[in-house]
Amino acid sequence: MGDLSGYKGAALRLLEKAGAAVGDVLEVRTPWGAVAGTLVPRYLYGDGEHVVLKLKSGYNVGLSLEDISEVSVSAKGEKPSFSAPPSPEPPEGLPRVLVIGTGGTIASRIDYRTGAVRPAVTSEELRSLVPELSQVARVDPEIMFDIMSENVTPAHWTKLAGRVAKAVGEGADGVVITHGTDTLGYTAAALSFALAGVPIPVILVGAQRSPDRPSSDAPLNLIAAVSVAGTANFSGVYVAMHLGESDDRIALHRGTRVRKNHTSRRDAFESVDVPLAAVWGRGGLEHVADGLPPRGREFEPSLRFDGRAALLKFYPSMPGALVRAARRSGAKIIIMEGTGLGHVSKEVAKELRSFIRSGGVACMTSQCIRGRTDLSVYDTGRDLIHMGVLPLGDMLPETALAKAMWVLGTGARGEKARKLMAEELAGETTARTFPG
Ligand code: ASP
Repeated sequence: MGDLSGYKGAALRLLEKAGAAVGDVLEVRTPWGAVAGTLVPRYLYGDGEHVVLKLKSGYNVGLSLEDISEVSVSAKGEKPSFSAPPSPEPPEGLPRVLVIGTGGTIASRIDYRTGAVRPAVTSEELRSLVPELSQVARVDPEIMFDIMSENVTPAHWTKLAGRVAKAVGEGADGVVITHGTDTLGYTAAALSFALAGVPIPVILVGAQRSPDRPSSDAPLNLIAAVSVAGTANFSGVYVAMHLGESDDRIALHRGTRVRKNHTSRRDAFESVDVPLAAVWGRGGLEHVADGLPPRGREFEPSLRFDGRAALLKFYPSMPGALVRAARRSGAKIIIMEGTGLGHVSKEVAKELRSFIRSGGVACMTSQCIRGRTDLSVYDTGRDLIHMGVLPLGDMLPETALAKAMWVLGTGARGEKARKLMAEELAGETTARTFPG
């Protein structure tokens, strides 16, 4: 019996009956005609109700068993396997860059024929995925997690921060972290606090298009990230993603000021109200902002995160019970994403007051994203100030949440935690909104 990786239940029985195996070209009859394509393996959590084919166009299509009247094998294929083509050892004297994989699609190795995906693990595989890396740095790859970034938690941040701190001790010239894009901004912010003062560049990088698509941004993002991590003369935590839609320039964003602002564009990431930290082109760094910290700083990291903080977006008619629910779930710090300058309804304000009275820390950010909170303009804002709500200026809501979890990780509570939230620690607030 051929390989039917990942298939189960009725789908497995149907394919077994047809004598099919992964990699075979199948013809499947459906009410809307025959569909021909290569049988693709299914993921671990796939159901037993679908057969997945890779069409000639390169797209995968999932066909429901309900729509399949017949399956036949039109050509036998080989079981897909990937073996890295030999690639030259990198020349001596290149910087050493630790590349930490956490999941998402960026550092995945794709079998183009079947669409099977797995993370690139060895340096050989990583080099064969992006051969240019050999010219840029000696890459030490390490897969720490293999998860979609929506599943990343403060516990992952603690582990990542610890691994980067260890890499500093091991003498790495830079660290690259490959990460799903959805929560890349949160992780970048979190690491900016945990690794404040880090003496080397730490570059987080993702991809909006998976590496099996010709339009993938993965290779260039990765090359830029490794190149900057290995050679830049500045340090700190940054995000490297496409600057524009064309495949030639990569923007370096400051870890606490970056946001994913588009669901699918390659240039989805933007620095909010601050200039870019740097721009990388195929020849190297083309522009570096003034004032970035140099390499080799003193470094006393505080690596732990405690997830007992909540981020709540205010909306018209928001029930106060949602604030109570956050409190009951154990939140010690609540970050509100208020309207405009930082407002919430009377009902929500009342709940925030009792949260603060019980020793909690309530902070205000704005869902406008750009600009700063100002609670002194309207009565509603002044009331919030009086009850002790802390306005966070132009701190991004996601950055504020990551900071709150870091503050709690230091063991600070109540007044001490409030003071840390108000202090600028990792470029998370700016004195004046850019560009003016
Ligand atoms: N949902 C995915 C993630 O954030 C998207 C990506 O890989 O970029 O992990």
